Amino acid sequence: MLHNHFLPVFSFFVFAACSSGTSQTAAFEEDAHSITETDAPVAADTIILSKEELLGQIDPAQHAGFTKVASKYTDKSDIYLRKDTYDAFERMAAAAKQAGLDLHIVSATRNFDVQKSIWEAKWNGQQKVGGQNISKTIPDPKQRALKILEYSSMPGSSRHHWGTDMDLNALDNAYFDKGTGKKLYDWLQANAAAYGFCQVYTKKGKDRPNGYHEERWHWSYMPLASQFLRQYDQKVTHADIKGFDGAETASLIKIIPNYVMGIAPDCKNWEP
Ligand SMILES: [Zn+2]
Repeated sequence: MLHNHFLPVFSFFVFAACSSGTSQTAAFEEDAHSITETDAPVAADTIILSKEELLGQIDPAQHAGFTKVASKYTDKSDIYLRKDTYDAFERMAAAAKQAGLDLHIVSATRNFDVQKSIWEAKWNGQQKVGGQNISKTIPDPKQRALKILEYSSMPGSSRHHWGTDMDLNALDNAYFDKGTGKKLYDWLQANAAAYGFCQVYTKKGKDRPNGYHEERWHWSYMPLASQFLRQYDQKVTHADIKGFDGAETASLIKIIPNYVMGIAPDCKNWEP
């Protein structure tokens, strides 16, 4: 089932890669120290997802574990997160507000069908990728999939399926280079971990050789997502990633070890 409200995510492509700021300035230490005991992330209960849930075969609007994002945090009319993710986000947003910053959710849960529509629009050329109709310019299936995978995940392999991940403020790395964007990103780098959030798609390099390009806007709620990633590793195989055009490339690309597991080491090693 495709929901109309998800259509704006079609604009989710073409972002400039930028250098990743790794240093945190002294100016933000004050904020970090202002975090109180009650703001600290609590260890999440264990939640066991079925293979179908891990693959995004859900309708978050009908799922008891999800809640709708309030309009003060998003322009979208109907987007959802897991309840624990949302509670932690609200605490983080309140702290950001005290620092004069507004956290805005651009995209939250996207199920398999939504991701399939994004993927197939690119695969079949209705949505251009890097200004090109890649169904014509990249006939080789593996190479075409790799092009889409620079910024869009394959249906069944997206962390957005889990209700733990969200895109904040702007789908553009360069936005976070200066002005308000830089203040937001510096604040998140200094403070998000205290609320359980981690930037999973950091700049690619020695620490993170495989997977999606840098996404400074994509934040993941690790108390749940670390559980779900482990469960995904145990339950899902490449044969389960199917039901969309180009699905045969999942095993050619080794989507699970290279992309699903290809997250920042700091996030991968997250401990409650
Ligand atoms: Zn994202």
